Amino acid sequence: MSTTPKTTCPVCKAPMPAPWQEYPDYPFCSKRCKTIDLGRWLGEDYRVPDKADENRSTAPRPDEE
Ligand SMILES: [Zn+2]
Repeated sequence: MSTTPKTTCPVCKAPMPAPWQEYPDYPFCSKRCKTIDLGRWLGEDYRVPDKADENRSTAPRPDEE
């Protein structure tokens, strides 16, 4: 293992050579990237898969335990 992990912005992949203290929005390089990341979360992953369970509980189960 000779690869030294470089700190890069997870959103725009910009190199962040300065110590993390230099970045008020760490681990993002800027507030803009922080907002973008938040938007991704809300837009793509903000789903609660509860409908499947709901459908299952209403289905008749003759051989229920
Ligand atoms: Zn960035």
